[in-house]
Amino acid sequence: MPNPFIDAHAHLTDAPSAAKLDSVLARAAERSVTVVVTAAARPDDWEPIFRLVGASSADRTGGVRIVGALGIHPWYAASAVPDQEEEFRAGLVRLESPLIGEIGLDFGSKGLAAAPKETQRSLFAAQLALADEMRLPIVVHACRTGGEIFSAIRPFRRIPAVLVHGSVESVPREAVSERFFFSFSAAQTAPDRRRGREAVRRLAASAPEQIVPESDYPAGGREPAGVVETAALLEELGARPSIAAARFSEAFGLFSPK
Ligand SMILES: [Zn+2]
Repeated sequence: MPNPFIDAHAHLTDAPSAAKLDSVLARAAERSVTVVVTAAARPDDWEPIFRLVGASSADRTGGVRIVGALGIHPWYAASAVPDQEEEFRAGLVRLESPLIGEIGLDFGSKGLAAAPKETQRSLFAAQLALADEMRLPIVVHACRTGGEIFSAIRPFRRIPAVLVHGSVESVPREAVSERFFFSFSAAQTAPDRRRGREAVRRLAASAPEQIVPESDYPAGGREPAGVVETAALLEELGARPSIAAARFSEAFGLFSPK
């Protein structure tokens, strides 16, 4: 049997239709992509995530296990309302392998990331505090934060594992502890992506077993099945994606229902 693959970061709830998602998952299963981590961007995604995770538990997702993360993405920081914490906690309890995400900081993207830095910081800190209290792994979005993304996470020592996705051109070496994982997409690792490939190479020099592939589906029209090619590209760049996948699964509790 071929090695199983893991898609560390996708937004399956943004699939254009249920029928499309079925065929996307069927293609993933055909290529041995056995787990897809699907993250929420805003509270409106939470119910659809419960439905997908439920379908996965009932074995109705074509043999692909779907693991959900609940959270509020920095792009939606401005519309977050303060009294959502109770709903948030109750939602996490409903998940088989609960994760918090997609949370983070974005000081670079245009448009949606227009929330003031202070608004983003306080929302991120509140979600980090909850993850720390509940000892849950997190899925993090980072864009042009310098090292701030790492210094913000550092004090929360009870967060068992962190997946960082986005632009991680500069990872401070001292920030990369064993609990950190980094995901890269086809768009960052394709042969013509010089900067993305350089970032992977640098990171692979110190943390080759902490780099995993992601599809970020449906962004850019890519799908979970594509992580097979992305894993091969990561390997060319010095990463060890199959060892990383095993470590990531363990750290994120992907195979063990609670
Ligand atoms: Zn995302």
